[in-house]
Amino acid sequence: MNVLSRINELKEILNEASVAYYVNDNPIMEDYEYDRLMNELIMLENENPEYKTFDSPTNRIGGEVLSKFEKVTHSVKMASLSDAFSLDELRDFDKRVKNVAPTATYLCELKIDGLSVSLKYENGILVQGATRGNGIVGENITHNVKTIKSIPLKLKEPLTIEVRGEIYMPKKSFIELNLEREENEEELFANCRNAAAGSVRQLDSKIAAKRNLDAFLYYNLSQNVKTQEEALISMKELGFKVNTLYRHCNTIEDVFSYIEEMGRKRPDLPYDIDGIVIKVNEIDLHDIIGETVKYPKWAIAYKFPPEEVSTKLIDIFYQVGRTGVITPVASFKPVFVQGSLISKATLHNEDYIISKDIHINDTVIIRKAGDVIPEVVRPITQERGNDIIPFKMITNCPCCNSKLVRKINEADYYCVNPLCEEKIINSLIHFSSKPAYNIDSLGDKMCELLYNEGFIKSIADIFRLKDHYEELIVLPGLGKKSIDNLLSAIESSKSNNLDCLLFGLGIRHCGSKVSKIICKKFMNIDNIINAKYEDIISIGDVGEVIAKELVNYMNNEENIKLINELKELGLNMEYRSLEVKDSYFSNKKCVLTGTLASMGRSEAKSIIERLGGALSDSVSKKTDILILGDNPGSKYDKAKALGIYIMDEAEFLEKIKEN
Ligand code: NAD
Repeated sequence: MNVLSRINELKEILNEASVAYYVNDNPIMEDYEYDRLMNELIMLENENPEYKTFDSPTNRIGGEVLSKFEKVTHSVKMASLSDAFSLDELRDFDKRVKNVAPTATYLCELKIDGLSVSLKYENGILVQGATRGNGIVGENITHNVKTIKSIPLKLKEPLTIEVRGEIYMPKKSFIELNLEREENEEELFANCRNAAAGSVRQLDSKIAAKRNLDAFLYYNLSQNVKTQEEALISMKELGFKVNTLYRHCNTIEDVFSYIEEMGRKRPDLPYDIDGIVIKVNEIDLHDIIGETVKYPKWAIAYKFPPEEVSTKLIDIFYQVGRTGVITPVASFKPVFVQGSLISKATLHNEDYIISKDIHINDTVIIRKAGDVIPEVVRPITQERGNDIIPFKMITNCPCCNSKLVRKINEADYYCVNPLCEEKIINSLIHFSSKPAYNIDSLGDKMCELLYNEGFIKSIADIFRLKDHYEELIVLPGLGKKSIDNLLSAIESSKSNNLDCLLFGLGIRHCGSKVSKIICKKFMNIDNIINAKYEDIISIGDVGEVIAKELVNYMNNEENIKLINELKELGLNMEYRSLEVKDSYFSNKKCVLTGTLASMGRSEAKSIIERLGGALSDSVSKKTDILILGDNPGSKYDKAKALGIYIMDEAEFLEKIKEN
């Protein structure tokens, strides 16, 4: 791949991750991975400055501002901090600082893993709380900030000031919140930071109030002090909660000792930290040292490497997947890793466990690096006691007890009993899941309940549930309203596109993308049933393994019986191609700024995509059209400066109609 393609690829990945992280509070990758990719992009842009565009994520602070909140323009930019991932990078930072300010010393503070907040007080009264947003414009979250008990609503003195700090969720509150969400079958928060951000960005302050948020403040914009240490002390005197684990260090070596000490204390702290912030203590030196567009040069954030934690492996249990695959799972004493409490991790298969020499009762190292999924890194063999139980793969299904089969050239064992209950329940869960048939009210627990109560034994039974209305509404924990919702979600799902059905059937290796490709080619279920191996393989994007599995599936009488039942029950069996070729938007890159009166952003995106175009987040030289909504942001100015075609909402709607 050439440099420009890699730069573009990195920009795309990082932009997508930023939206997930800052806008949706739901990260799709680990911070460490994000930072690694960001560093690669910075390096490539430095080496090839001609490829650096103003819309690069390397220029951006934080995320976008959600339109559901009132916007707040910060009086002074809320900057981010540059990162260091090694002690060598800190040494370089020290050299750069000492070059211009040889007398500088450092104040080290814990880097609290939450989200930045700005608080404004007028005559001692809290009047505004705002997020950092993109550094220049943030979101007004005053209503939620007021629910945080440690934030004073009234100061001891009638001062008019702005202070900044970090809102966070204590580990204990995070665990309780996720337990509650698990019970309610709600999506879990990935870590304390996202839980805090998700709570602060609620429109209803009653929700934020229940979340037990807290805040440490570290910066007073109107301070009249000589050092950062004095600033913290004076903020404490004003009544703010200040983290007192800071330390004044005279040399960079002292900074290293502090980092080492805090790294050890980190697991025992009641809140999550992701590093140490090192600031030049003497405030009069800050101006001399200066700042870049994005960061002050007098401070740096040292980020801890991915955390590895040891714990005891208590047991290995086995899960039966929808295809019958048996997955061994390690169950260990719960440990906190990178902000989340973890008690199990997949061990993949027999070969994996043997190659890692893992035994029950071993002390093992757990990590969550490069992925959101926790992994068992290795056992600490030196700590092995007499109580270890050597691992031996099971020979029979943990659910139905039928003999397991290991296929030739595969590491996995399978339960091949078509009536195995766990297999059936998991296939039902898969069918109704979001990426497949997406039946809203039919989550994991509901599937299990309806299976155990004898209402759904196969996918077709889901669509016969309406015949059992009277029996369903009296099931414990349910009622008329939830059953009405469930049945209406099932009914409306019947018109789903064919690729959702094909993916939902759970054919091995036939993922959602492949299902779409196959449906696009064959257009209806009968053509797919009759497709020959050669026809499938000729598509190009579909490999031999998938083609074989698909043909095998369609050659099985039971499967054809199921498809016919679904046909009779009224499920859509045709593929509706969503793309219109040769439309006005074909191959055009569009950007939307502001809000449209007629539709939301996601609807606009899906229409543009169906018309063969793309909607991206930021304006660049490659943008073809800027769609202009109400209250446009800075994208409008950029588009004008670049001479990009600007289309108002009326014209946008007109073009959609024409196409
Ligand atoms: P940052 O987390 O690297 O550091 C700056 C922030 O630290 C400040 O804005 C402030 O809010 C906070 N902070 C905490 N304690 C502080 C203290 N004592 N003094 C000063 N500041 C303190 O920068 P960022 O811009 O907030 O976020 C970038 C980071 O977010 C990335 O490095 C990455 O780790 C993460 N991120 C992750 C993803 C993902 O997909 N996982 C996506 C986007 C960003």
